[in-house]
Amino acid sequence: MVDAMSQTTRRRFLESAAAVGAAPAAVTTAFAPTSKPRKLTDNLWVFEDTCNVYLVKDGANAVLIDFGSGKILDHLASIGVSKVDFVLHTHHHRDQCQGDHKANAKGIPVAVPAHEKHLFADAENFWRNRRVYHLYYVRNDFNTLTRNVRVARTMADYSTFRWRNIDFFVLPTPGHTLGSITLLATVDRRRVAFSGDLVCAPGKIHTLYDTQVNYGGSEGVDLGIFSLRRLGEQRPAVLCPSHGEPMSDASSAIETTANRLTDYYRFQTGGAPSAENKPYGVSPHFVAHYQTNASFYAVISDSGKALFVDYGSASQLHFNNFERATAVTDRIRFVEHSIDELKRNYGLKSVDVVMPSHMHDDHINGFPYLIRQYGTQVWCYENMVDVIENPRGWNLGCILGEPFKVSRSFRHGEKFRWEEFEFEVTHSPGHTEYQMAMFGTIDGNRVAFTGDAFFDAGRKDGVLRHNLIFRNHVENDSHVKSIRNLIQREPALIAPGHGRPYAVTREMLLATEKNVRRQQQFFFDLLPEGMTNFGLDPSWVRLYPYQILTTPGETVRLQVHVQNYKPSPMRMEVAIAAPPEWKIEPDVVKFEVPANSTAQRPVSLAIPKSWSPRSSRFAIAADVVSDGKYLGEITEAVVDMKGSESY
Ligand SMILES: [Zn+2]
Ligand SMILES: [Zn+2]
Ligand SMILES: [Zn+2]
Repeated sequence: MVDAMSQTTRRRFLESAAAVGAAPAAVTTAFAPTSKPRKLTDNLWVFEDTCNVYLVKDGANAVLIDFGSGKILDHLASIGVSKVDFVLHTHHHRDQCQGDHKANAKGIPVAVPAHEKHLFADAENFWRNRRVYHLYYVRNDFNTLTRNVRVARTMADYSTFRWRNIDFFVLPTPGHTLGSITLLATVDRRRVAFSGDLVCAPGKIHTLYDTQVNYGGSEGVDLGIFSLRRLGEQRPAVLCPSHGEPMSDASSAIETTANRLTDYYRFQTGGAPSAENKPYGVSPHFVAHYQTNASFYAVISDSGKALFVDYGSASQLHFNNFERATAVTDRIRFVEHSIDELKRNYGLKSVDVVMPSHMHDDHINGFPYLIRQYGTQVWCYENMVDVIENPRGWNLGCILGEPFKVSRSFRHGEKFRWEEFEFEVTHSPGHTEYQMAMFGTIDGNRVAFTGDAFFDAGRKDGVLRHNLIFRNHVENDSHVKSIRNLIQREPALIAPGHGRPYAVTREMLLATEKNVRRQQQFFFDLLPEGMTNFGLDPSWVRLYPYQILTTPGETVRLQVHVQNYKPSPMRMEVAIAAPPEWKIEPDVVKFEVPANSTAQRPVSLAIPKSWSPRSSRFAIAADVVSDGKYLGEITEAVVDMKGSESY
């Protein structure tokens, strides 16, 4: 509803928000809702604005769930509230937060879903970059604020936002938007779910158009069904939607809506939604799941302890949509999957260890969650440790943007025992330099976990499919090394990084070796004589860390890292091209890199305290002379100013 008078007096004005810090000015109109706050239970109120604004109070203090136009601030006295401690948002749509500049102006802190922070704090940057022409990415992120909002806190998935005696549990519930959350809290002794626009009435959702991400897709329907099932497991008593009436029979509302959406999803796509994906038993102690985009494997000991190899996204659809929606300094979103099923049907009691086949995000994005939720240890091949622990250091394909700790690492050829099983870890480059092949015997089968090295393409000649991604660090003999590795160890079953485990024979491996040797010959033929690896590796000269996080007044310590693929020593001279006010020491780094070897040298960049960046993220370059030849700015690094980072 809208004020009748305000329609006639409609005008645009600039609301100055200068009262508190640098709160952004906001363009607004004179419209306002005419409704009054309504009491649901003693300490829970709802106010119908552009969305439902819920107020949870404790004495004279309150938190608000979503904010609409902010008009509720004029009604606080009638509710007996003198101070709003926080505004918590379920998602970034304008109807939820178009009045946030009022919260900023009054100094009320705003907390937002972690994966939508950029659509609040950096909304203006979103608009500079959002393409309208050639529109196939039809996701309704157009419903984003027109001005930046100052964000005080982000709410990470599966974390708890504690306010006084109330814990708001942050459940990821993508569907209506890709970053949506549901906040679960006990208010007046009832378990309440503030579920945003996941469901608006039993069997109904607020819009269908918000559920479409790609041209012709039904992504938000699939994600919404998955989210509703997970929300159901939390057993809320009441659902408080952003649009529609609170639902006091939450479980039946969830069930009805999930079932109806499932029927609709099958009708539109002819397939089953991600919520129906399930792992399957390969043998009594070995469970595989290949519908999870990157496959993951659970070796389950008689004790009930599990060793996972990889643990990525809930489905291909989850991965693809979250990947594209990930902001530059954020990490891909993860929602829990499969573990309940492993407990119910496969005797899993704990996730003891998880090992990455390689360092790619699609294989490891559940690792930080396993560490936090289950106390799982991460073990890996030694060259992955730094990429995992310091992801800002590197510019490689598919890095996960959240660092986490590795508990144990293995050298090439190292054997270890876990529970009643024995394994051998080997280096297996090709798909990426940072990949292992792990061999072990499970239920009498000699299994090789090979990540994304080789896939069964069903070819008559037995040749296994491989892939080639130069950004992943490939050298001319990488694939040859990894197939030789398999030939020497003769596994019977390959557990690949995507798809189901498949039987493999020596003939197939030999045919594959022939094939990758052909690829190697192409590399030699196509690239300048003696320079093959320089033409395959875009980062033979690189700066470490690649993504620098700093602030004025700090001194950044960089390493210039050079990989010399020549059979003779190489003389290097490197100078950093950075803002002129920075003090760079030394101004030219001179060193020699031995033949077929690597070397690194430090350089420090002192940023004056008085210096102010033109942007929160920008690039610097390294100008390079090698063996007396001026090559120019052949490598670079990105600089993030502190405060803009997510991890
Ligand atoms: Zn919405
Ligand atoms: Zn993969
Ligand atoms: Zn990969």
